[in-house]
Amino acid sequence: MTVRTRIAPSPTGDPHVGTAYIALFNLCFARKHGGKFILRIEDTDQTRSTVESEQVIFDSLRWMGLEWDEGPDVGGDFGPYRQSERKDDYRQYAELLIDKGHAFRCYRTPEELTELRAGLKEQGYNRALKPFDLELPADIVAERKAQGAPFVIRMNVPEEGKVDIDDMLRGTMELDWALVDAQILLKSDGMPTYHLANVVDDHLMQITHVLRGEEWINSAPKHKLLYQYFGWDMPELCHLPLLRNPDKSKLSKRKNPTSILYYQRMGYLPEALTNYLGRMGWSMPDESEKFSLQQMLDNFDIQRVSLGGPIFDVEKLSWLNGLWIREDLSEQELATRLQEWAFNSENLMKILPHAQKRMETLSDFAPLAGFFASGILPITNKSFEGEKLQGDDLIRALQFALWKLENLRTWDRDEIFAAMKTVSDGLDLKVKDFFAPLFIAISGTAASISVIDSMDILGPDMSRARIRHAIDVLGGVGKKKQKALEKAYLALGN
Ligand code: GLU
Repeated sequence: MTVRTRIAPSPTGDPHVGTAYIALFNLCFARKHGGKFILRIEDTDQTRSTVESEQVIFDSLRWMGLEWDEGPDVGGDFGPYRQSERKDDYRQYAELLIDKGHAFRCYRTPEELTELRAGLKEQGYNRALKPFDLELPADIVAERKAQGAPFVIRMNVPEEGKVDIDDMLRGTMELDWALVDAQILLKSDGMPTYHLANVVDDHLMQITHVLRGEEWINSAPKHKLLYQYFGWDMPELCHLPLLRNPDKSKLSKRKNPTSILYYQRMGYLPEALTNYLGRMGWSMPDESEKFSLQQMLDNFDIQRVSLGGPIFDVEKLSWLNGLWIREDLSEQELATRLQEWAFNSENLMKILPHAQKRMETLSDFAPLAGFFASGILPITNKSFEGEKLQGDDLIRALQFALWKLENLRTWDRDEIFAAMKTVSDGLDLKVKDFFAPLFIAISGTAASISVIDSMDILGPDMSRARIRHAIDVLGGVGKKKQKALEKAYLALGN
């Protein structure tokens, strides 16, 4: 048997460090066993998937040195490797399950589902919706069918009892069927859900080992049942520990930058980031902290993964990055890296149109544009002195701006401006008074290249990280304050 592993990222938003972490372990496991590592794009959520996001997933994984043997961009014998291009297959498999009596068409409306769930809760049941809950009288089904009402295809699931799930790291886990719902397999738009597409593709792509994040443990019973329904062998499962913030919560962009692009822009070396992700739950036999991808591949053993939640600590990463910079790069190599990183002509050409008109001498350039090549800026409370907005009003304005920017789908000048204008109007502020503190958060000074252009050039991750940092510098937003702010933010129609 040839070992075949895969990652299956969804191309929605920024490339997540968690995706690179899971990719790294899948790659190492495949190589260790002389197997193949596959990249499959799970883009069945058509409203959220974008080609840009897919491209940055490819680029950032490659930047980190993680290469795949088969995938949408490199081809392979088991394609297509984009789920949207396999759409028609999934329907057939869902219908096959109906024919076998393992799935059913469900004409329940969203309102009815809410009611059914509320009913269960009211009666004190702690269980998922089961097929019998969803059943409708035959005449109503016939009526809805005749009207061409939308339907989904759901799988049958046992009402009670236990199911054993074998995991390469965790041994056998016992899960409760009562908590497993009659999962939707095919949505009303004809697109499969993750569960159906994942099982069908893992089977058709002959995946032998599924190494994925532990957040998928609760889905394993459904997957196991689907494999049984189809009569297919299930790949071995291995649920890797989730990356965590220093406060042990699940790594989230609200607390820590999670996008690979942020770390790239901060000037972390790909070797160091890959090395650091390799340290997440795994260790070298000699416990050394600094190792290359090749050394990790040479020494890989999945059983050396420990299950305690690995903490993704940016300070530790910086320390490791420093080691790489000092110990592994010659001065010449460092010069090349700096050029490739920020001092390349593509980057300069974005900055110069804004800088040139403000320059008298060449030496004006660095003070004017230095913030484009900086990380988190050394601002303090004092930086905001003399601004119109102060105290809670200032924090609120920055927090609203941040939330708005976190939900921006396309990052370009006009979109950023429109978004910021809405916040400013919503808060009944003069644009000037609202933009001034943003300026400081983004560039460190009150007068600089336009803040909107600056954010456009800096990109979403660094812009958001700097605003988040400014909020922290100004005292931060505690839990209670956050709740009140959220309410006010939503009240503005956001
Ligand atoms: N699309 C899922 C994700 O991005 C894949 C999970 C899996 O590996 O099964 O997390």
